[in-house]
Amino acid sequence: MKRHLIVAAVGLAAAITLSCGLAACKAGQIADRDWTVQKVYCRAAENGYEGSEQEFRSLLAANEIVDLGTSMGEADHEHIFPEWTVILTAACNSIGLSFRQCTLCREAEWKFEEALPHSFGEKRVIKEPTCEEAGVALYTCKECGTVKEEEIAKGDHVFDTAWSYDIEGHFHAATCGHAAESGRAAHSFEGGVCTVCGMPSGTYLVPVEYTSISMYFGENITPWEYLHNGVDFVAEAGTPVFATAAGVVTNLGGDMLIIAHANGVESWYRCIDIDPALKVGDTVKQGQKIGTVAKAPNYEGSEAHLCFELTFDKMPKDPLPYLGIDSGIQFPAD
Ligand SMILES: [Zn+2]
Ligand SMILES: [Zn+2]
Ligand SMILES: [Zn+2]
Ligand SMILES: [Zn+2]
Ligand SMILES: [Zn+2]
Repeated sequence: MKRHLIVAAVGLAAAITLSCGLAACKAGQIADRDWTVQKVYCRAAENGYEGSEQEFRSLLAANEIVDLGTSMGEADHEHIFPEWTVILTAACNSIGLSFRQCTLCREAEWKFEEALPHSFGEKRVIKEPTCEEAGVALYTCKECGTVKEEEIAKGDHVFDTAWSYDIEGHFHAATCGHAAESGRAAHSFEGGVCTVCGMPSGTYLVPVEYTSISMYFGENITPWEYLHNGVDFVAEAGTPVFATAAGVVTNLGGDMLIIAHANGVESWYRCIDIDPALKVGDTVKQGQKIGTVAKAPNYEGSEAHLCFELTFDKMPKDPLPYLGIDSGIQFPAD
């Protein structure tokens, strides 16, 4: 902030100097006969010299330029000019200025060269942009050390290169902690799986013919205990239970069976009598019978049901949308 104020003040001073100088120049532009320091300074200012008139006088004195010369217009002889005297070498923060004078008639020539453009070096990122804030890069001139600041536009969210999917389609999920996604598209099923994301087709079958749902996903099992990770489908004991999708049996024991599907999805079946022929490692087809609903657990108020869970990379999600069942209940998103 402070620096900007100083820059503005210098700029203002330069503007005032320049306009005064230019006013003084008007006469000089018509005839350069008998150059004066002020006329030459004026030209220099017009050409981008940024020093004061006092500094300019010192510069001429330092180069021992006392006789500033004349401009005779039409001359009756061929001028004889010596080498240019370089008063200022053009650099990226300074104009170039040279002088020569005919040895016969004092006709003067002043040569102004534009300041050179800065030659900025490599971009140095001092603040990486994120999806929330712009970044900052600096460039330093290799010649004069001038530093240029540049804003780096705020970036997009960072997305996983791997596909995630839900029942609607597949997408790249944000890995920057925001609930964002990119590249969402509908699944393209071929041979039972989406060729892009690997989600099994037909989505997931409802695993049992049920009469009602006695407990939804996310409900408190008890007011003080953990949340329900699945859905309880009420059905009479002995009702067949089917594999929700094709997969491999990875775990079974007691009244619980787990099937692993493509893409890190697992289906969990509890409260079932497992088909005795099944063992870990068996491949099952979608809709294959894997057991039957077990007898109601022996405690008050319980009724026979299949407790069904779907996990995605070990995270349980409400299975109902994946089964095409609209529960009409909105649980807060996770
Ligand atoms: Zn001459
Ligand atoms: Zn420079
Ligand atoms: Zn983000
Ligand atoms: Zn897909
Ligand atoms: Zn349950």
